[in-house]
Amino acid sequence: MLLAKRISRIEPSLTLGITTRAKDMMKNGVNVFCFSAGEPDFDTPENIKQAAIEAIYKGYSHYTPVGGIDELKEAIAGKLERENDLKYDEDQICVSVGAKHTLFNIAQVLFEEGDEVIIPSPYWVTYEAIVKYAGAKPVIIHTREEDGFVLKKEALEEAVSPKTKALIFSSPSNPAGAVYSRKDLENIAEVALRNNFYIISDEIYEHIIYDGIKHISIASLDKDIYEKTLVVNGVSKSYAMTGWRIGYLAGDREIVRAVVKLQSQSTSNPTAIAQVAAAEALNGPQDSVEKMRREFERRRDFIVNELRSIDGCSCFNPKGAFYIFPNVSHFYRKGIASSMDFAMSLLEKAHVAVVPGVGFGEDDYIRISFATSMEEIKAGVKAFKAFISEL
Ligand SMILES: *Cc1c(COP(=O)(O)O)cnc(C)c1O
Repeated sequence: MLLAKRISRIEPSLTLGITTRAKDMMKNGVNVFCFSAGEPDFDTPENIKQAAIEAIYKGYSHYTPVGGIDELKEAIAGKLERENDLKYDEDQICVSVGAKHTLFNIAQVLFEEGDEVIIPSPYWVTYEAIVKYAGAKPVIIHTREEDGFVLKKEALEEAVSPKTKALIFSSPSNPAGAVYSRKDLENIAEVALRNNFYIISDEIYEHIIYDGIKHISIASLDKDIYEKTLVVNGVSKSYAMTGWRIGYLAGDREIVRAVVKLQSQSTSNPTAIAQVAAAEALNGPQDSVEKMRREFERRRDFIVNELRSIDGCSCFNPKGAFYIFPNVSHFYRKGIASSMDFAMSLLEKAHVAVVPGVGFGEDDYIRISFATSMEEIKAGVKAFKAFISEL
């Protein structure tokens, strides 16, 4: 065999088939309604762009410290204290090339053969991949729509074993838009502390949250859970900076040191210019964050209303992030027996691109992203409804 065995443990993104087909169609002049985006459709705010331009002229063209420049680490520490009620010293923070990279690094330094890592489903597919790539075993727990796709204490307790090393979850979550309440988090924290496993808390969507709910970081509950939690966050979603590739980890010193060591032998520092821009994102005016959040909420309200008016289409009202995760299994029939079939047929017949739920561990669902214009949403929803009515 040519390739190392470990690379066969993971799969390329399941969405690839859909995306490739959608791109093909667009190339042939078909107008595809694109509801598959995993990133904000907004442009990066002006003050952040300006900071990056200035950074270029100020000579940020050299290597920086591996785990990030002081200026950015201070901005992160300031943000975590201000917004999340969390205190970290700079040696508890490591900046990486996006939150995905942060998660990958954590998995590499923390997990190995024999470890089990609990992941509530539906989950962001990367969680499962990084656990497998590290040689550990993902333990998937299905959550229920009736529970708001939140992991419940009894289910968690059932999945815990002496091999449990960590739980990875996100709130708000991708793809379901689940948001964990203080009580939900307290329940999880209690089980984690009693069974001595780590919590990897992906908080990348914290600012994209609706109905006046305030994001709570599980690390902020008390001192004990603070010590067992690795907070993962970044600027991609809140500031429409996905392409800039800045994410970070805050938590245990020893783990942070190990992540920095791994990074020192792999990527080295994240791009110097992007680090300066990220510091401006965190320190600068925050009004653009609220503006984007409000627009996402307006779109969510519209699209949830529309979907709920479809007979047989059950749809959880997401409390955060920018996805709707409707159950479409009611429409499964001969020829459309899975979320992949449904998504492919929807694309071929109605020119609507969505992501099949199977990629997130739930084959009865599809993910519809509303990180696209209201115009596109209106036209796409119409096409979606027409497709359903013709089934
Ligand atoms: C987009 C996303 C991320 C990471 O984004 P980066 O661009 O790598 O910072 C992490 N977690 C979830 C759930 C996401 O959807």
